[in-house]
Amino acid sequence: MADPTVPILDMRAVGKTYRANGRTTEALREANLTVSRGEFVCLLGASGCGKSTLLRVAAGFEAPTSGQALMWGKPIPGPGPSRGMVFQDYGLFPWLTVRDNIGFGPKSRKRPTAEVRETAERYISLVGLQAFADAYPHQLSGGMKQRVAIARVLANEAEVVLMDEPFGALDAMTRERLQDELLELWSRTGLTILFVTHAIEEAIFLADRIVMMSPGPGRIEAVHEVDLPRRRDVSSPAFNDLRRMLAAQLHSHHAPRTATVAA
Ligand code: ADP
Repeated sequence: MADPTVPILDMRAVGKTYRANGRTTEALREANLTVSRGEFVCLLGASGCGKSTLLRVAAGFEAPTSGQALMWGKPIPGPGPSRGMVFQDYGLFPWLTVRDNIGFGPKSRKRPTAEVRETAERYISLVGLQAFADAYPHQLSGGMKQRVAIARVLANEAEVVLMDEPFGALDAMTRERLQDELLELWSRTGLTILFVTHAIEEAIFLADRIVMMSPGPGRIEAVHEVDLPRRRDVSSPAFNDLRRMLAAQLHSHHAPRTATVAA
């Protein structure tokens, strides 16, 4: 049993430098972040500030160049089912049905056939895709594909769901619906979610805490608690105040370093 006083994720002074084709990029410098079980945390920032890198380190796809990435207090050894990743482009297997995509994890871990089937059915209903269990990914809308991707990591017993701009490719209406569905799923399951976005509204709508990142090198600049009751009203004054404050912080990252401010 996990010790509840230990954070589920603990990034300690995590640095990541990529070396490719003779070029060195410091993608992340000394990032410190702890995430408690059941928290919904958004990483917010412009492109290139290290959000995906931090997520990939948490997933175990990348090892930190410096510092430590811990889950339940132990170094993350590599990718594993307890940390499920959901990508913007869904990452579904096109040759498998919805049912088989969702059952893929348990099946590849050699769970008994009846259990695989039962798990797949449970998560198919959790995301409301009963009518599409036998459909193939190309027969689904973007929103439905993303539901399959989420169900797939849950069926694989993810404790932490790592989401890299998962709704970025969806139209505005579908995106809003999936944000609502994700919050509903989150509150029902007690999952821990680390969610990358560059959309301020999305971060305020979803997160318990917003981790603001800045580029050159990528680093954590500030962490904001979002102390607004859910379901959050995007037109409320408190929502707008936070939106303005985060926008000012985000836009300051684009200002040229030598710029002078006009009166
Ligand atoms: P974000 O998700 O905020 O857009 P990333 O973590 O993707 O930021 O990237 C941070 C920086 O690291 C960028 O400058 C990017 O070009 C660089 N980078 C990311 N992945 C790699 C890689 N595999 N090899 C080399 N450079 C990379």
